[in-house]
Amino acid sequence: MWTPPAALIDAFDFIDGRFSAPSCPDGVREHRSPADRAHILAHVAHSRGQVELAVQAAVTANKRWAASAPMERENALRRYQGALRSRATLLAHTIAWEVGKPHWEARTEVAAMIGKVDLSLGPGAEYTRNTQLRDLPGEIRYRPLGVVAVIGPFNFPGHLPNGHVVPALLTGNCVVMKPSDKAPLTAQVMAQCFVDAGLPDGVFNVVQGGADSGAALACHPDVAGVLFTGSARAGRAVVAQSLDRLDRLVALELGGKNAAVALDDCDVERTARQVAFSAFVTAGQRCTATSRLVVTAAVAERLCERIVDLARNLNVGHPCDEKTFLGPVIDEESAQRLEQAVESAAAAGFTPLLPLRRMPRPPADGAYLTPSVHRQQGPLAADVLGYTDAELFGPDLAVYVVKNEEQAYDVVNRSRYGLSASVFCADRKAFERAASALRVGVIHFNRAGAGASGRLPFSGIKASGNHRPAGILTGLTCTYPQAVLLEQPHADPGQWPGFPPPGGDE
Ligand code: NAD
Repeated sequence: MWTPPAALIDAFDFIDGRFSAPSCPDGVREHRSPADRAHILAHVAHSRGQVELAVQAAVTANKRWAASAPMERENALRRYQGALRSRATLLAHTIAWEVGKPHWEARTEVAAMIGKVDLSLGPGAEYTRNTQLRDLPGEIRYRPLGVVAVIGPFNFPGHLPNGHVVPALLTGNCVVMKPSDKAPLTAQVMAQCFVDAGLPDGVFNVVQGGADSGAALACHPDVAGVLFTGSARAGRAVVAQSLDRLDRLVALELGGKNAAVALDDCDVERTARQVAFSAFVTAGQRCTATSRLVVTAAVAERLCERIVDLARNLNVGHPCDEKTFLGPVIDEESAQRLEQAVESAAAAGFTPLLPLRRMPRPPADGAYLTPSVHRQQGPLAADVLGYTDAELFGPDLAVYVVKNEEQAYDVVNRSRYGLSASVFCADRKAFERAASALRVGVIHFNRAGAGASGRLPFSGIKASGNHRPAGILTGLTCTYPQAVLLEQPHADPGQWPGFPPPGGDE
């Protein structure tokens, strides 16, 4: 049984360079591991009052940090990267235990956090480089917003907030981060890495808590930007909280109901493997998880059979068992929500090709579910409320059989979400047709949709986000372009009719 090091659990907020605890907490949360609910990892006190202290620390620090030389910020982030490397083992264990993600996957998350520093300082920085115009004495300069709030989800508790924090700091912003209340410890390790890096006090801060703390932070008058990752429901609340602040940037990275489209000429084995990976990795708890398969009739039987076969043989288990492919879902509430959704699907004509089950002999007390596949029978009906129209965030795949490409794209596009899709076919031209027909922010050709490249932008449209990209363009999102017009020695308003010539009294 893993226990967090004592140094991590003394105090949970990190404000003005010091770990602290609220003097009058609004509440104390028992933080249990989803891998084993009998295992209490920590008791976390939270208070909205800490938000004020953290924002004020960031406001003060921002005066110097925003004006610092880019090299100073780059060096600090390089030292942070070194600290992440030194603490990689601790970080991976922390992620695995606090969100129930298999250890192999937690290690890939830590590698992505380390890699984000290279991406942000390298190709990412190109997008915010000051640009001088060739034929005019003018420049575009990218200025920091000021104090930005980074609000994170539970499913990538390190990689996603880190993906906002690093470019935000690099471009001269100061950060107050509110991690998911289901993942307070990962934020502790990140804060410790910034201490190791010698980041100036107040430049990076953490406040713990749930929706209340998130709301207090997102609508704080001194917060110039909110970089939010989470559900569409919470994203909507964040937008509502900012309605009277027209100047505040609210960048939303929200959920998805992502589809894989498999056409007649797809490679069945490859498609089945990519789709099964994409539907069930992280127990279906990725924003980019494939939760719908839209397949043309000619390949439907063979493809479904192979996906079911793969799904049945995936190892569900304890996150720290190296043979585990998928661990538990985050909590009992999530498991029950998925079970109810699957029941309504059955009532609306979806047949279980592989039913959703609780693991018969779970390794510990957690919500361990085995993967499921449900296929729609009969004509393509309207969405099943709470099933095909909703992000379920669990290991289930809904299958639709369609006649042709056009029908496939209609089914994909009728979702209220527009995050990610993948298209499986031999014909590159068919993929190009799909890429222009599908309303999504990320599209994959013959590859698993549950993933992204740090070298590319990442953003969703429709209910998946508001076109404010993360990924390689995050630096751009947390700056504003300042137009700089320089002196033109020979230009004078005397050239305009009625304006006196230069020369004063004469
Ligand atoms: P969630 O919406 O429950 O919580 C996300 C964060 O928002 C948490 O820190 C939470 O405390 C905070 N929050 C909740 N209500 C708030 C409010 N009213 N004001 C301010 N903050 C508030 O999401 P979750 O369950 O932690 O994460 C899963 C969700 O995140 C899924 O919908 C998933 O698709 C989405 N997600 C999106 C991306 C992406 O990049 N598009 C990536 C990962 C996860």
